[in-house]
This record gives sequence, structure tokens and C-alpha cells, in this order.
Amino acid sequence: MEHRPFEDWLLEERPLTPEQRRRLQAHLRVCADCAALAEVGEALRRGEAVAPAPGFVDRFRMRLARERARQRRRGVLGISLLAAGVLGPGLVLLWPYLMTAIRSPAALLALWVHSLAFLISLGQAIGRAGLILLQVFSGFVPPASGLLLISAATGLILLWVFSLWRISSPPQSI
Ligand SMILES: [Zn+2]
Repeated sequence: MEHRPFEDWLLEERPLTPEQRRRLQAHLRVCADCAALAEVGEALRRGEAVAPAPGFVDRFRMRLARERARQRRRGVLGISLLAAGVLGPGLVLLWPYLMTAIRSPAALLALWVHSLAFLISLGQAIGRAGLILLQVFSGFVPPASGLLLISAATGLILLWVFSLWRISSPPQSI
């Protein structure tokens, strides 16, 4: 079927003469292709929003959920690495004390005090390092009382973690 000049008329959107309009209407009645083209042109002129494909919203939500899960996993990995970096060296340093404490319950108290002192100094060191990082990253210099408070808080947290560990795994006497 010859679609010209009807296709051009549909695409160009020029005003048609009454004779052209009559011929176009006659062609649209018999030509499915041009009728479809006219329909699309009509829809576009009306500014009809094209509905999204079925399931689009669900797929979008699933993708969003997957993306969030990936970010969560990355966050957990980062925190684990950070914890390993902070706790690893401390554990390595403490390990001989812990092993002696487990083997010889008599020396437990003395070692406990040693460990305590070590943990407190470790906590203060970590607290100071954290404060330096804080200052570097934020340009914020806390007052001396804030410094003391943060050092003390870090020491207390480490103490608390160590106490929990002692309570949950009592030393076995030989
Ligand atoms: Zn046609």
C-alpha cells in the first residue's frame, strides 16, 4: 500500500486542506499502519504519560533493596576491619599475660592488676590517638576536660569489655 503522502502529513503536523484531510481520513480507515501512526501522534500531542512496564515498581524496589544490602555488607566489613585493626594488636600484646593467667591461677590477681594497668594505658593511648584523628578531621579542638573525659571513657569501655570476657570464660585450673 502506498502510504505517501499520508505518512508525511501525519509526521509533519502541517495544517491540511479540507481535501487533504478527507483523503487522509479515507486512508486511515483502510491502513492499519498509518492509523497506528496517527494514534501515536495524537497521544503525544495530548501529552499522555506513558505508563511504566508492568512490574517496574517492584523491580525498582528490589534493585534498591539489593543496593542497600550491598552497602550494609560493605559497612559491616569496614567496621570488622577497623575492630580487627584496633583489637588485634592489643590481643597480641595481652596474649602472654592471658596464657600465664590460665596456666597459673595463683598469679591471677597480680596479672589481673597488670592487665588492668595495661588496658588502661592502652585505652588512654587509643583515646589520645582518636582525639588526634578527631582534631585532624574536624579541625575542632576540645577543651582539656573533654580530652580527659574521652580518655577515661575509652579506658572504661576497654575495662568493661575485658571484664565481660573474663566473666564469660573463667580460667581452667590444671
Ligand atoms: Zn498507510
